[in-house]
Amino acid sequence: MYAEILIEYPTKKIDKYFTYLIPLHLRGVLKRGMKVKVYFGSKEVNGFVISIKNDYHEEYELKEIIEIVDQELILNEELMNLGLYIKEKTLCPLIMAYQTMLPPSLKIKDNNTNYNFYKNYLVLNKSKEEISSYLNNYKKENNQTKLLNDLLLNDKVLKSDYQAYSIKALLQKDLIKEIKEQEYRINKSLDQTLIKNTLNEEQEFSYNSIINTKEHAVFLLEGVTGSGKTEVYLNVIDNVIKNGQTAIMLVPEITLTMQIVNRFYDWFGSKVAIFHSALSNGEKYDEYLKILRGDAKIVVGTRSAIFTPLKNIGVIIIDEEHSDTYKQENTPRYNAKDIAIERGKYHHCPVILGSATPTLETRARAIKGVYKYLHLTKRAGEGTLPNVTIVNMTDELKKKNFIFSEILLQKIQENLNKELQTIILLNRRGYSTIISCSKCGFTYKCPNCDITLTYHKSSNNLRCHYCGYTIKNASICPNCGEDALNYLGLGTEKVENELKKIMPKARIIRMDQDTTSTKGSHEKLIQKFKNHEADILIGTQMISKGLDFPLVTLVGVINADTSLNIPDFRSNEKTFALLYQASGRAGRANFKGNVIIQTYNPDNYVLNCVKENDFTKFYNYEMNNRRMLKYPPYYYLVSLKVVSADYNLALENATKVVQFLKENISKESIILGPTTANLFKFNNLYRFQAVVKYRFDDKLMPALKALDEIYVNDNKVNLEIDINPERI
Ligand code: ADP
Ligand code: ZN
Repeated sequence: MYAEILIEYPTKKIDKYFTYLIPLHLRGVLKRGMKVKVYFGSKEVNGFVISIKNDYHEEYELKEIIEIVDQELILNEELMNLGLYIKEKTLCPLIMAYQTMLPPSLKIKDNNTNYNFYKNYLVLNKSKEEISSYLNNYKKENNQTKLLNDLLLNDKVLKSDYQAYSIKALLQKDLIKEIKEQEYRINKSLDQTLIKNTLNEEQEFSYNSIINTKEHAVFLLEGVTGSGKTEVYLNVIDNVIKNGQTAIMLVPEITLTMQIVNRFYDWFGSKVAIFHSALSNGEKYDEYLKILRGDAKIVVGTRSAIFTPLKNIGVIIIDEEHSDTYKQENTPRYNAKDIAIERGKYHHCPVILGSATPTLETRARAIKGVYKYLHLTKRAGEGTLPNVTIVNMTDELKKKNFIFSEILLQKIQENLNKELQTIILLNRRGYSTIISCSKCGFTYKCPNCDITLTYHKSSNNLRCHYCGYTIKNASICPNCGEDALNYLGLGTEKVENELKKIMPKARIIRMDQDTTSTKGSHEKLIQKFKNHEADILIGTQMISKGLDFPLVTLVGVINADTSLNIPDFRSNEKTFALLYQASGRAGRANFKGNVIIQTYNPDNYVLNCVKENDFTKFYNYEMNNRRMLKYPPYYYLVSLKVVSADYNLALENATKVVQFLKENISKESIILGPTTANLFKFNNLYRFQAVVKYRFDDKLMPALKALDEIYVNDNKVNLEIDINPERI
């Protein structure tokens, strides 16, 4: 018997099947979708079994399959086909689609690490009667009798809870024995005391619309922060589970949304498996096993959790559907929303996209009726929407207020006096984002990337936020030798420093990539803030999501212009979402919230939509922009990046790519470029870009495929095709 194997070959895109002989002991065991180890040339590589056949007609001798990598690990029919879908839609090699679908920890299992986790228990080795009579002969209580008595009450006890010498003594007397049981590292029980809210009218309507849909349909559940979307998800999933089905919920970043995950644990306990990159390999392994064995019915996780091999899925939920984390930025460049819908079709189940600020594409589809539009218009629990004030920083500069406006400081102080909490948002980490010399004009830049270095005060170094390049901070200009370096541009670290100077008594927590790099640090900071062990939380956009703190009544946005000025067609949308969500943090409980937005563009339309808390107004404005500028949802986009270490080669080939497109795609489609890409130089590679805008173009996909083929085996020039890019 023979098997066709798709090889995991790391350096080249080999998307061909190779035939191997199935050794006797694997016949009947080996199945399609299994991961196996084979020789490819002289190398041992992994591969997937694509098919099994009885005949083989070529002349030359075949190699045998070495072994099965993991019997439990198998891509089922649905996932095998999903791989083909991803290949077709994103133009990736099939093998990369399959690799993406499997959790990385199981790949590490290649080197024979055993991730199974056991605990040692003690059980009785005699009947209870025998033990009782044995105990009756004992006059005095001691550690041994205590252990035996415990075992009369419990079937098993944890070995580590008892002293070694008593255990040894009882083992020698043959009264007890030791057993090993596999445990899941993460083991949460449900909250028996949980009181479930009665759904309000809007929630009830949404809930019913979803559960009464027997066929596949996509729902947009749009509702401001605190309107009770999560409550709807929980109820829908409850219903799904009661019908014997399973559910997937995606969240943008799990460490940021632990509060939601905990609500899932409270409702569903150990039926929940979580899935994200911050788990240890052992934890990942366990969570995956729970799913494979059917112990877990609900998967909560980040992007790649969309591939978990749940059977009989009853609902797929994408929370914060506007989040850009759902799009994978490297090959395969898939969007988890598309995968969700594809799986939803397969399982005939609803897909729910939830957000306070859905993407324009999603909202436009909901308005057109392609998706079903559900709306939660008011906050579910207590709390009203906050007051938003826009502060003109140009006026503040005249008063020598460089970082904090008068009103913001005043409100922070008021909050301190009232023992309420404040969140301060600045979407830049580090201390200073530009270091330049006032004598010669020198500016520190990354030698590998086209970007300025950021000064980090606590570690006293300068870092590239793209590639990680780091150098020690210098006291004099490396160019002219003068003591004239200026530290410009504001980051979270400096905001923290300055605020400490102004309010020495305030307890401040800073949360950004720098303070949350170690495992669990994020949760610790959040917990600390939640326990009111701090008054002020300063952070980057990571603090604007998913957090629910009843005592926060003030949100200050230090520089709203940072994100408005990013040269991307989504920068308005992203800014609106960021500020609208951030302001959603203020005043969720009984207190009226205040949001203060500092900006140099007080008349900016987007900021004023935030001030009026009016998503619809923003939507109409931005749709108009998109229509005029021919961007999604009016046009689809494809981005093509030509990347090379050689500047001239990159430019030359970018020009060729554009020429090829001009000759081969519809004349109705628009081709922009080649231009330098946004991040023109990254890790010593030069990047040129072309963009295609199109509505209907039958010739486009074949042209892209042809281009992809041309560059697959080019060692000097890379072509990165991104279909429906998140940013260009
Ligand atoms: P969202 O996911 O839209 O931000 P949540 O589901 O987290 O909203 O709800 C916000 C708060 O309101 C939570 O504390 C939740 O317990 C509460 N809540 C939600 N629905 C109801 C309801 N029907 N009755 C009372 N409280 C509710
Ligand atoms: Zn760099």
